[in-house]
Amino acid sequence: MGVENKAELMARAETAPETLTDGFHLLIDALKLNGVETIYNVPGIPITDLGRYAQAQGLRVLSFRHEQHAGYAAAAAGFLTKKPGVCMTVSAPGFLNGLTALAHATTNCWPMILISGSSEREIVDLQRGDYEEMDQLAIARPHAKASYRILHAEDIGLGVARAVRASLSGRPGGVYLDVPGELLGQVMDAAEGQKSLIKVVEPNPAAFPGPDAVSRAVDVLKSAKKPLIIIGKGAAYAQCDDTVRDLVETLGFPYLPMSMAKGLLPDVHPLCASAARSLVLKEADCVFLIGARLNWLLSHGKGKAWGEPGTKNFVQIDIEPTEMDSNQGIAAPLIGDIESCATALLDAIGSDWQKPDESWTGAVREKVEGNVARMAPRLQNNNSPMDYHGALGVVKQVMADHPDTVLVNEGANALDMTRSIVDVHKPRKRLDVGTWGIMGVGMGNAIAAAVETGNQVLAIEGDSAFGFCGMEVETICRYDLPICIVIMNNNGIYRGDGENWSGGEDPSTTVFVKDARYDIMMTAFGGVGVHVTSPDELKQAIAEAFASGKPTLINAVIAEDAGKESGNIGNLNPSSVVAQARYPQAKKI
Ligand code: ADP
Ligand code: MG
Repeated sequence: MGVENKAELMARAETAPETLTDGFHLLIDALKLNGVETIYNVPGIPITDLGRYAQAQGLRVLSFRHEQHAGYAAAAAGFLTKKPGVCMTVSAPGFLNGLTALAHATTNCWPMILISGSSEREIVDLQRGDYEEMDQLAIARPHAKASYRILHAEDIGLGVARAVRASLSGRPGGVYLDVPGELLGQVMDAAEGQKSLIKVVEPNPAAFPGPDAVSRAVDVLKSAKKPLIIIGKGAAYAQCDDTVRDLVETLGFPYLPMSMAKGLLPDVHPLCASAARSLVLKEADCVFLIGARLNWLLSHGKGKAWGEPGTKNFVQIDIEPTEMDSNQGIAAPLIGDIESCATALLDAIGSDWQKPDESWTGAVREKVEGNVARMAPRLQNNNSPMDYHGALGVVKQVMADHPDTVLVNEGANALDMTRSIVDVHKPRKRLDVGTWGIMGVGMGNAIAAAVETGNQVLAIEGDSAFGFCGMEVETICRYDLPICIVIMNNNGIYRGDGENWSGGEDPSTTVFVKDARYDIMMTAFGGVGVHVTSPDELKQAIAEAFASGKPTLINAVIAEDAGKESGNIGNLNPSSVVAQARYPQAKKI
């Protein structure tokens, strides 16, 4: 900006401020123009006023107690809405707190934009020691799909457009937008500013697979004797629920939903093979992945659970070309968006499709029915203190009676047991720890679910997982959100009965204060706190929370020795023969 121009603007600021705009308002206008309605925020220098002005300009700005949870909420909002969730933080420490969530969004392929205030380049680049000095852009880069910095008010429209498109296009991900404090105060002509804004047109265009790819996939699927579909959270994100259901039912293949794809087709669907997981993974001769990666969550498509090596053909739909062959050779890759790929397949297979032989689907169904029947009585127990089965039998019934409830879930045993026991009946009604298996996403997930859907939220939390995000109960109470939190309280991480192997007085590394009353945390902020010790009491407390819609925390006492080390993934803990010999106690875990 020329000196003369600057002087002219200063003069106009005195006489006609309404003809001017500034960095604050251009940023707000650019976000609104691109459909952003909500900001998940933690105020502080230099973005305190940005939050106030955004609220004044009609955006919903929710302030959290810690940036990590504001960020997790933004990431979950991206998954739920197919639009970038926006998180706003202060510089350096606030930015770093938010960065965990940005990396989480990128890892999960969800659209999110982290906007952080930062110090001025002149000081940061010469390392002169500014207030919260940090080269945030450089630090964000490896954790984001894209990272941008805006230096001039007239570039704000461009910066926001780049961020929105990068977050949504192709494989979605997290985008970092660096906003130096000085930018926000820059002033320019309002009409010029308005003209500089960009509304992104079609940020995530349809991507169609080629005809050869489609016919190759049909051939592979047709030749399968024991086919299996695995549906991932990419398919839930894609929001083409009817097309996916049509494809599964037309093919007539048994399917396994990944954790956050549960409910895309109801878990009680006759083709759902969740309760026969071991059988289908081992026996299938063809596995069709729809928006699911063959990563650690599927043991990379190999190992004991997957049966004899080399006996399976893989077909995979994914928007990201480089996902193919990342773990197993993909016989028929279908690269494109799920809706376009599924529609092309449905067209190609036509109406004379032969569903797989009853000898396969019947065997799977029989196994499912047997396992479900065997589990049923355990879910009816009314033991006190509770075990996971008794408590989750109640939650299973609640989700069946209230299928629009969003189920949030984290923990170790609390996660694994809930995932396998509690059916989800509708799409995008389960939010959990995602690809990384993060502890502490629960309250961010719950707040985003309540804000973005308006539905009742039920958060099933391990006591340990809750500890990472518990202060956000104040946020929940402040915004009076319809969130019912159930703490599965077994006094510790994994279990509450660990001992100090030195014989010393400190508690074991994995236990907490015995008989803690998490419910009292909730009443401190005006929410409802309930202490329950049996499934019947739990049922009653959830019913009251749902009826009132009030923020509620239920401290559900679980037996201290219920659960196991690391839940279902204890095998990921390293071990050594030396340690086994040195600590005989280790064998008992
Ligand atoms: P899960 O953990 O449920 O198995 P993943 O996160 O591993 O799911 O996989 C999701 C996959 O879905 C990613 O590889 C991502 O590229 C893909 N994906 C996301 N959105 C779409 C879309 N609209 N169309 C096609 N693939 C998508
Ligand atoms: Mg615990």
